[in-house]
Amino acid sequence: MPQSSPALFDEVCQYVRQSSLLASVSAVLEWDERTKMPAAGAEHRADQTTLLSGMIHQRWTDEAFVAKVSELAAGPLVEGVDGETAVTIRRLKRLVDKKTKLPRSLVEELARTAVLGQSAWEQARRENNFAHFQPWLAKTFELKGQQAEALGYKQSPYDALLDDYEPEELTANVGRVLADLREQLVGLVAAIRASGRQPDRSLLSRNYPIDVQESFGKEAAAAGGFDFTRGRLDVTAHPFCTTLGPHDCRITTRYDEHFFNAAFFGILHEAGHGIYEQGLPPDRFGMPLGEAISLGIHESQSRMWENLVGRSRAFWQHFYPTAQKRFRAALGGTSLDAFYFAINDVRPSLIRVEADEATYNLHILIRFEMEQALLSGDLSAADAPAAWNDKYRQYLGIAPDRDAEGVLQDVHWSAGLVGYFPTYTLGNLYAAQFFATADQELGGLHAQFARGEFQPLRDWLREKIHRHGQHYSAAELVKQVTGRELSSTPLLAQLRAKYGEIYGI
Ligand code: ZN
Repeated sequence: MPQSSPALFDEVCQYVRQSSLLASVSAVLEWDERTKMPAAGAEHRADQTTLLSGMIHQRWTDEAFVAKVSELAAGPLVEGVDGETAVTIRRLKRLVDKKTKLPRSLVEELARTAVLGQSAWEQARRENNFAHFQPWLAKTFELKGQQAEALGYKQSPYDALLDDYEPEELTANVGRVLADLREQLVGLVAAIRASGRQPDRSLLSRNYPIDVQESFGKEAAAAGGFDFTRGRLDVTAHPFCTTLGPHDCRITTRYDEHFFNAAFFGILHEAGHGIYEQGLPPDRFGMPLGEAISLGIHESQSRMWENLVGRSRAFWQHFYPTAQKRFRAALGGTSLDAFYFAINDVRPSLIRVEADEATYNLHILIRFEMEQALLSGDLSAADAPAAWNDKYRQYLGIAPDRDAEGVLQDVHWSAGLVGYFPTYTLGNLYAAQFFATADQELGGLHAQFARGEFQPLRDWLREKIHRHGQHYSAAELVKQVTGRELSSTPLLAQLRAKYGEIYGI
């Protein structure tokens, strides 16, 4: 006797919620590992998380479950309906298809290569010896090619890899927007360099007591709307944001007593991620409608609070008098203008994670172009360092002397994260486009920031973006919220306006 569709749907939802509960148990262990766990606990913790991830994978690929999702996807609940049930079924079917398309042998080989590749990469970077990593780079891209073929794609194999991080987005679309951005950015950065103006960056390296950094950072995050009754801030080596439950979002940072930016803008960045997580519907936790859309949309929320809000003059018109009181020794005698210029310093640099708002996207473009060439075979692993250096010379006007500061600087490729990089720039682009629309609809955000009013922007983001979960794809959401497809125009306009004023160009 076949089940009725609604009963089957309830059963499937119940099952998915339990899988998500298990995933959130794993998230607690991972948060603890990265914040509190003594190093000696690593081996046992690895056993725990490996067991859990195996159980979770087993649940998602369980034959009976897969058959039920397929039955729902072919049934009356999804036909011509755009309601919550139909969207949920379509998203689940998509997930299940992806998880079941990869042969087990390939999944295991990818996992093994990621572990061994990362350890080879660590050694290669430490010893500045690319040759030690080269075979692993070649192997990773070969396996990633197999993964793309197994998953299938619309136009290019890179589509299949990008889809893991930015579902439904196409390489060609991203390539168009990024190529346009590159042309304009290279010119903008050259004009900034030619202006000859440079801020006094040393003021950011004065003494900033860590306990004051913590309380001031929390104050700014709370003003932006991060709810500390449903979240925490802790210390870690590599900052991140994770959600452990519908009312438990954890953000992390690291403090440097002699560098203001690292913790402060890091906290705003992670709080931006956290505000998104806290804005997802709690009663849909663990289901597609309670989850973030994509890494690009997630990153748009963090970049918005970090850069478009936190690095704006208006933000500091409100917060600078407080900062001067709290960090009296460091900032008591420093003007708002000097401080604002220092936190908006633009200069070509070799290291992506230390790059400013304007040059950052050029670092991403280089990686995006190289990943496609490595995947298609147009570029061999052996030629990667030279290609890297050429592109840095071409786009940023500088090149590293050592591969450790060049092609070996990021962990991503060694960990098998191919297709991930463009989501950083997509985040900047989405952020700028959302911000421009919010600015119009809310009537002048900067004037509000200067008065210390950040709630209108947070409420707007919640209403337009957060509460929808995965109801829309990233592209659909951008079109719906801003009335346009993704474009480089808003980001370029914002960078030109800001740096035009600062650098007089
Ligand atoms: Zn981020």
